[in-house]
Amino acid sequence: MRWPHAAAPFATPPPARPLTDPQSIKGFLDPEEGTALARYAVATAHLGPFLEIGGYCGKSALYLGTAAKEAGTRLFSIDHHRGSEEHQKGEEYFDPDLYDEVACAVDTLPSFRRNVLAAGLEPWVIAMVGGSADIARYWSTPLGFVFIDGGHSMPAAQADYDGWAMKIAPGGILAIHDVFPNPEDGGRPPYEMWKQAVASDAFEPVERIRTLEVLRRL
Ligand code: SAH
Ligand code: MG
Repeated sequence: MRWPHAAAPFATPPPARPLTDPQSIKGFLDPEEGTALARYAVATAHLGPFLEIGGYCGKSALYLGTAAKEAGTRLFSIDHHRGSEEHQKGEEYFDPDLYDEVACAVDTLPSFRRNVLAAGLEPWVIAMVGGSADIARYWSTPLGFVFIDGGHSMPAAQADYDGWAMKIAPGGILAIHDVFPNPEDGGRPPYEMWKQAVASDAFEPVERIRTLEVLRRL
């Protein structure tokens, strides 16, 4: 029997796109990295939902949310939305537009929600507002895909790894952002996390796309 879609004009459907260009919103992700995230995520959807640590204004969530929509699953996006060390007032990546003058604190949640809504992805992207390690303690659903892009201090990176790596189903993917093997290019904790994953019996390295490392859970 021939399935109806076998007659479709494209053997491979063109990749789904969000209504907004993810590169038009604030954030820290190269388009090549974003496309790779989506590609790997879609392939793991049968194993469980997707989860990211570090939503910020929604750039990576637009790529992964589109993948979730395409695959019929959900992206859980974790962020306390108070910014990392480098986003605080007086630090290198402080952005006054993302500062709540009343609360006297960084607040990226309004931007995140606005961008996800405008991209038409609200049904597929579930924001979880809180600390990564805290949420991990109460989470037990096996995940198909985890993207770690949160705090870059060693304690923060270690807590993300300890909290989430083993919640990935066998065959699932762990993606780590801002991995700089050369110390002159950037901070070490995400690289240390990647090394730890490779040294464990739980992951094998798959591919590196710019500063994004992709590993498979064994
Ligand atoms: N993925 C985003 C960039 C994330 S920036 C993009 O594509 O643009 C890092 C984010 O991690 C910040 O928004 C910060 O608030 C968040 N973060 C840092 N440490 C965290 C922690 N322990 N728990 C939850 N979120 C954290
Ligand atoms: Mg990053």
